[in-house]
Amino acid sequence: MQVYDKRLDIETSVAAFKKDNKSIGFVPTMGALHQGHLALVERAIAENTVVIVSIFVNPTQFNNSEDLVNYPRTLESDVKLLSRLSTNIIVFAPSPKEIYGNEMLSTPYNFGGLENEMEGKFRPGHFDGVGTVLKHLFEIVSPTKAYFGEKDFQQLQIVKKLVEIEKMAVQIIGCTIYREDTGLALSSRNKRLSKEQMANAPLIYQTLKQVKKDFGTKSVTDLSNWTLDQFKNNDELKLEYFEIAKVSDLKSITRKRKNTKYRAFIAVFAGEIRLIDNIALN
Ligand code: AMP
Repeated sequence: MQVYDKRLDIETSVAAFKKDNKSIGFVPTMGALHQGHLALVERAIAENTVVIVSIFVNPTQFNNSEDLVNYPRTLESDVKLLSRLSTNIIVFAPSPKEIYGNEMLSTPYNFGGLENEMEGKFRPGHFDGVGTVLKHLFEIVSPTKAYFGEKDFQQLQIVKKLVEIEKMAVQIIGCTIYREDTGLALSSRNKRLSKEQMANAPLIYQTLKQVKKDFGTKSVTDLSNWTLDQFKNNDELKLEYFEIAKVSDLKSITRKRKNTKYRAFIAVFAGEIRLIDNIALN
């Protein structure tokens, strides 16, 4: 298992892989790895000669400094988990300085409006940070394919747009959401949930599943009101937003149209911990 923290070291390895025409699968993560991340890595292993996993808690994508400080950092156990999948995986775990130099700045991006919806509204600057770090990482790793979870569906759409804007030759692969048996989407932030919060958190997916079931027969307004009701009297979970949006541009809708793909998106606070999820509706 190779673990690099220096940009130059990984760039040297990448240059050798490129010379040998090896395909490079890349899985960018912020660490505190769980089975959801590992499913992405397994797919990358199946589809590429070489797999690189980055573990980097990217400061510029955090709009909340407490969230950044409290974000779990577990490099040693992350490396152990990865080595169980394959000892050939290359881990890139740089310091912020290695990526950004002395100026921790993000580039302002126009992702065609995708950045102004949902997470963009509630986390100002978040997608500029995501775009900036991924541009750096794609330049360093030079991947053939890069793997992203539908758990962060808006991010996945934005990454596809980023690659278009920056004219980068990487194929972006979306992977299905990995869930606990309770339906709760796996997230590194779940590690911080109390017992009570954990017991209530499955309500998020239960609500999404019911919305999907009723999508054909109920109006968007009724579904939104019903969702608000589900969380209204819950002591552990506070609903931040619920939206039904078009897959194409992520704009929320009030009326359904034929031949259009929709998804439901949700963000919930369990205390200070923010959880997001989404589901395909049709
Ligand atoms: P993160 O470490 O949270 O930045 O996530 C790294 C990658 O793993 C992102 O592409 C996420 O969308 C993906 N991911 C995180 N949780 C899950 C999950 N439960 N199922 C599938 N992919 C996930």
